[in-house]
Amino acid sequence: MALDPGHNPVRIESFDPKTGAAQIDYPNGAEDGDAFSVASQVAEILRARGYRVVLLKRSPNENVSYRQRVDRAEAVGAQIGISIHTSPGVNAVFAQRVGLFREGSGVDGATVRVTFRAERTAAASQRYATKVAAARSRSEWHPVTVQDNDFSGRAPLWSGNIPIISLIAQSTPWVYNEFSSGTTGGSIAVEPTALRAYAKGIAAGVQQALPRRC
Ligand SMILES: [Zn+2]
Repeated sequence: MALDPGHNPVRIESFDPKTGAAQIDYPNGAEDGDAFSVASQVAEILRARGYRVVLLKRSPNENVSYRQRVDRAEAVGAQIGISIHTSPGVNAVFAQRVGLFREGSGVDGATVRVTFRAERTAAASQRYATKVAAARSRSEWHPVTVQDNDFSGRAPLWSGNIPIISLIAQSTPWVYNEFSSGTTGGSIAVEPTALRAYAKGIAAGVQQALPRRC
């Protein structure tokens, strides 16, 4: 299984060569270290239980695009990809669903819409997202919901309703997480005890989703 520890350490603005989607990523202050800490804790828990775990960003300072992360997950045959983020006031899990999309200005300036269409991947993503949200709800102290994202009004990010990494991961079921301990998250550092609860919840969710260890 593959863990995606949040944002890139430097700003990236390029187009995914396979789908044409704009892959814009940027550092986000405390979120970067928080997400890497959570990913490292999830990896430690799952490796101790026999899972093969790959971190899609190998250090907090590694510069790696969404497409490169998806390629790394595919290269190891990951059965699930987990993106780890924090955001003030958001406790949610985003799944892949057929029909979700992003739309914006493509490489030649014309408007492009990239739609998620991989039915089997979407079905697995939704099953896994439900397990992760339930496990996180038990580990954390607030309900965690499965929902669609909303990127309207966030230019230069393309509009639409699915994270870019989930959209371009056509053959890997992806579960994208946001966490907040209340007012913290994003560029505001999250307390270590809260990060621990987040990590335990994700690890428990993966075990529920993939009980056969892979
Ligand atoms: Zn984020």
